[in-house]
Amino acid sequence: MQLLRRGDTGPAVAEIRATLVSLGLLPPTNGQHHGPAVFDVATEQAVRAFQQQRGMITDGIVGPATYNALAGARWRLGDRNLAYLVSQPITGDDVFALQERLLELGYDAGRPDGVFGKQTELALRSFQRDYGLGVDGMCGPATLRALRQLAPKVRGGRPVFLREQERVRMAGPRLRGKRIVIDAGHGGRDRGVLVAGASEADLMWDLARRLEGRMVATGMEALLSRGPDVCPAEAERAQFANNAGADLFLSLHVDANPSGLAQGVASFHFGTGNGPTSTVGEALAGFIQRELVARTGMLDCRIHPKTWDTLRLTRCPAVRVEVGYLTNPDDRRRLLDPTFRDIVAEGILVAVKRLYLLGKDDQPTGTFTFDDLLRYELAKAE
Ligand SMILES: [Zn+2]
Repeated sequence: MQLLRRGDTGPAVAEIRATLVSLGLLPPTNGQHHGPAVFDVATEQAVRAFQQQRGMITDGIVGPATYNALAGARWRLGDRNLAYLVSQPITGDDVFALQERLLELGYDAGRPDGVFGKQTELALRSFQRDYGLGVDGMCGPATLRALRQLAPKVRGGRPVFLREQERVRMAGPRLRGKRIVIDAGHGGRDRGVLVAGASEADLMWDLARRLEGRMVATGMEALLSRGPDVCPAEAERAQFANNAGADLFLSLHVDANPSGLAQGVASFHFGTGNGPTSTVGEALAGFIQRELVARTGMLDCRIHPKTWDTLRLTRCPAVRVEVGYLTNPDDRRRLLDPTFRDIVAEGILVAVKRLYLLGKDDQPTGTFTFDDLLRYELAKAE
């Protein structure tokens, strides 16, 4: 498709504007203006806000990824019948809402990803069978009514996330053999945050390599989601981890803010706020956050649930860390120091170790060293 950006006009622009209005990101036009729709400054700002909400690159330009996300965002549950179409799966926010609802009711629709796949159909069929509805695997008016009337069957612990927990427990405490995908943010022509010649893409690539080296030394299989000079889409990075059968997905970014005062480290896991949450992702985000704050003295910007593509589309627990603000002088000074990047790599590795130890170690946060880890792995190998 043709990219749409500021200054463009036409029906596609009208469609984009209508969606942004329906999402409350753009004020409705007052009707005095009847000319062709224009991709104006306000539209660009609204596109940026939308991209930010969805964890996409916030360039204010509507390319294929943003266009598809906008198209999907138009659908509310009940707007159309939903079913599994093998050749062209239905995607959209209505599918996401259906998956969330099924999970709330205790049916394993898989990780909610807004794509109506086989797993969603199986969950929907189970639901229909249990509630005496026609079992056709399609979410039409009758099924929808039943879904809306029912109170959640289970509280806390959705099957798909309970299985994640079980997998971590079964995997055992050793790091050896675990397969981790390390995702350095941005890359190629997308430099990410760029301040005074320092780019997020390069810094996170360097951090990823440091982490990779340590992981390989402990016997883990570390895979990088991109090469040094390319920028795969977020969904492709998630797909890479799924194809590799990864145990964990770790995404590395820095943050930026127009105010140079904003600073600190934050970690993100899959979660919808008050709906489903990846409990393993949340635990790992918590360990990473605690280790990094203790080891670096950076401001603690806490952990947060998000539905960004890399967190949503990965089938394994996934965490995204934003290691400080490149726009803040203190954080930038740290990030530019290779020793700091070593400390961060070590902190993340120890956090992964803690996850697999299931809280069964007594080393206080921030004190476990890389050498301790190697000794542990060697002792267990005997
Ligand atoms: Zn980034």
